[in-house]
Amino acid sequence: MSKPITVEHIQSFDVYVLHRMGALREPLVCYPMVSFRWPGLVKLTANKWRVDVEFRHGALQRIPVVWTQCHFGGWRPWFRCLRCSRRVGKLYNTGVSLHCRRCLDLWYASQRRGSKSRRYLQALKLRLRLNGVANLQEPFPQRPKRMHQRTYDRLRQLGERLEQDLRDNSRFRDRETDYSPLVPK
Ligand SMILES: [Zn+2]
Repeated sequence: MSKPITVEHIQSFDVYVLHRMGALREPLVCYPMVSFRWPGLVKLTANKWRVDVEFRHGALQRIPVVWTQCHFGGWRPWFRCLRCSRRVGKLYNTGVSLHCRRCLDLWYASQRRGSKSRRYLQALKLRLRLNGVANLQEPFPQRPKRMHQRTYDRLRQLGERLEQDLRDNSRFRDRETDYSPLVPK
C-alpha cells in the first residue's frame, strides 16, 4: 500500500501569506487572480476583519479574521474556523470549504470504517489534492497546472487503483459529497 495522503497534502490557506500580501488592511480589496497561488480558489476579497473566498466549484465562504496582541508589541492575525470557532493560522481546502486541521481530522475519522471505507477516503483525499471534488461520480481531476506530468501520472494511477472497484459499488459511487461535518450550521 502506498503512503497515506495526509492533511499536509491538502492545499492550505495561510493567514500570514495574506498578511504579507498586504491583504489584511482596512480597505476591502478584491484579488481576482488568486488561482495562481491557490488553485482551488477563483476569487478572494479581503480586509482587516474578513476574507471572502470563492471556490472553483462555485461555493462561497466568509472567514472571520481576528487579531491578538503580540507579547512584544504589534498585532497578529488569525482565521477563525467557521466550524469549531478556534483561532488558527492555517485552513485547509476541501474543495468546497476551508476548515482547520482539527475539523478535517474529525471529518476523516468519521469516515474511516473498514478497509473499503479507508480506501474510499484515500481516494477522496487524492482528488482534493488534485483540486478536484471529493465525489466519485465526478470525472477524475485534470492535472493541476503546476504539477509535473510524471507526478500526475503516478497519482492518477494510484487513484485508479484506489477507486477501481469503488466506482462499481453503489454504496460509494452514489454517496453524496459529505461535507456536512465541515459546513457550519
Ligand atoms: Zn475547526
